Amino acid sequence: MSQTIASRLDQVIERIARAAARANRDPAAITLVAVTKTHPPEVIAEAIAAGIRDLGENRVQEAALKIPPFKAAYPEVRWHLIGHLQRNKARPAIELFDVIHSVDSLRLAETLNRHLQERAAGQAQARRMPILLQVNVSGESSKEGFDLPGGLANRAGLEALLPDIERIVALPCLEVRGLMTIAPIVADPDQARPVFRALREVRDELSRRFPRAAWAELSMGMTDDFEAAIAEGATIVRVGRAIFGERWKYG
Ligand SMILES: *Cc1c(COP(=O)(O)O)cnc(C)c1O
Repeated sequence: MSQTIASRLDQVIERIARAAARANRDPAAITLVAVTKTHPPEVIAEAIAAGIRDLGENRVQEAALKIPPFKAAYPEVRWHLIGHLQRNKARPAIELFDVIHSVDSLRLAETLNRHLQERAAGQAQARRMPILLQVNVSGESSKEGFDLPGGLANRAGLEALLPDIERIVALPCLEVRGLMTIAPIVADPDQARPVFRALREVRDELSRRFPRAAWAELSMGMTDDFEAAIAEGATIVRVGRAIFGERWKYG
């Protein structure tokens, strides 16, 4: 039979450590989000037993079927929404998830903020929801995210985004922590490095322009390219297949 989740997890952690060392980075500064989309709850249980504390799902409906019992039993686990979020799923999303990586429009951000405000009504201190802004720097038309093909070199594209980002950063119930991207599928992972570098450069520019947000996080890198992403500064890698094998169909 195939290897266990625990042994594959060890190998991924080791590869993260080696990639960090090659880049002169502290491996502790890189969070591994284990992506359990399509896998059944037994796989999530095994991942938590193996020590994983950050788990990623890409669909609200599927997460609503799988996450709640684990939230109750393991309050220390952090749940990351990594897939596209429709505005009509914003309300359940804020109940299920601790971090949303896929905020890709001002309207979605405003909807999340409104639901968070409603939920906090009457409470002294509203919880701020950590979010990342998903940016499509590769120009692939299939990718979600704020469009900025070419990254910072695309000055007109950047200027066009700034007003929306300024408004998102000012929303009281959201806490912008950084950026997320998905690289194109390429033959050699090093070919994805310019995309990861472009995201880092955009992040650096946004942090200069909007210092009231933290901008520390760069969520980039998956099974096929997480080492290249770490070389370019990823602080969060989202890894599914390297830990859990090929995907199931669930829900
Ligand atoms: C599925 C998914 C991942 C994990 O992909 P793997 O190739 O299985 O590591 C990461 N990020 C997003 C946004 C995903 O949808």
